[in-house]
Amino acid sequence: MTGGELDQKVLYIGGFGRSGSTLVERILGQLPGFCSAGEIVFLWQRGLIDGQLCGCGVPVPECEFWSRVGKTAFGGWDQIDAHEMLAPIYSWFTEGFDTADIRDAKALLGELG
Ligand SMILES: [Zn+2]
Repeated sequence: MTGGELDQKVLYIGGFGRSGSTLVERILGQLPGFCSAGEIVFLWQRGLIDGQLCGCGVPVPECEFWSRVGKTAFGGWDQIDAHEMLAPIYSWFTEGFDTADIRDAKALLGELG
C-alpha cells in the first residue's frame, strides 16, 4: 500500500446470468495472485444484511475473508450501515418501474393472486 491506496489491480467480469462469467471468475481465482470475490454486488444485501452463507460455508459476517475485507475497508462491518450503503444503489433503479406495462403486469399479478 502506498499513500493509503491499495496497490492492487481489479479485474471486473460482467455478464448476464448463465453466460459463463462465474466459471471464468472461478478459473482466474485459482491462479497465483488472483483473489476471486464472487458476485460482490450481493455483498451488502445477501451477505451482510441477510447473513447468507459465503462460499466457504459460514455466514458472510462471520467469514474470515470477508471480515478481513470489512476491517481493512471500513474498520469492521459494524462501523457501517449496509442499508445506508445500498440506498444510493437502489435509488438508481427506481426510475422506469412506474410505466404502463409494469402497472398492467402488477395489476394482472394481483388479479391472479
Ligand atoms: Zn467465506
